Amino acid sequence: VPWIYFKVLFCSFKIKIRLFEEENLDFDLLTAIIRSSSRYEFNTSRAWAIARLDKLLPTNLEDFNSNAHLERAPMAILLARQCNLRQLLKPAFYRLVRARRFGSNQITESNGSSNDIHYDAAAFTAAESLLPKEDIIFASHLLREFTARWMTIVTTVPSPKCRLQHSKCPSVFVNHWWVKVVKASKIFQNGVFDPLGSLDSLIAIEWGADGICDDCLSFQRGLWRNHKRKLWEVRTSSMHIDRGSDSS
Ligand SMILES: [Zn+2]
Repeated sequence: VPWIYFKVLFCSFKIKIRLFEEENLDFDLLTAIIRSSSRYEFNTSRAWAIARLDKLLPTNLEDFNSNAHLERAPMAILLARQCNLRQLLKPAFYRLVRARRFGSNQITESNGSSNDIHYDAAAFTAAESLLPKEDIIFASHLLREFTARWMTIVTTVPSPKCRLQHSKCPSVFVNHWWVKVVKASKIFQNGVFDPLGSLDSLIAIEWGADGICDDCLSFQRGLWRNHKRKLWEVRTSSMHIDRGSDSS
């Protein structure tokens, strides 16, 4: 029966893939495996490829990287709908919004870490045009929401009430916020499109070197992490993001 042969062939293909180095398992290869295994109901192969994709593109907030596979965001949304992988939707929509920062500019920023950005504007626009109109509208809603929340965060200079009564703590943010945050376009302007990434930048700044005590700093970083959680929980259920696989 040809069906069985095909299945055996596919399984051996999967074993060969296993022998590849991790970096050879890129987004395109994994999505091709997910598409074909979903279509022919090869559930083991499908589960294996989904698990690999989750390692490559984590879908939880703690491991989310807004720059990872940025230009594949539209394809990830299509994959999520067509192969019923809802967990991909939220991170993909966040990257869709993040990509708007670059407009029609080609971007390649490489610093040898997982924060590398590769953005091919033409390829992105072509892929985005495949999305249903509702998804584009939803991305616009998200961008407005991100902008409003970020502007509230970034225009509020933190004023920790120091439990240890260190005289310097209340003035540290007042003295440094303008230069380190507002004038830093990679934080301030970037935050409009990528508030999660800019909140990470706020958390990473060595405020301690400016004289703030550990107690005040950990309190403030906790507030910024809380902002990240609230952004991650932005009303997904009331929008098209949870619509499932009905748009194919
Ligand atoms: Zn303090």
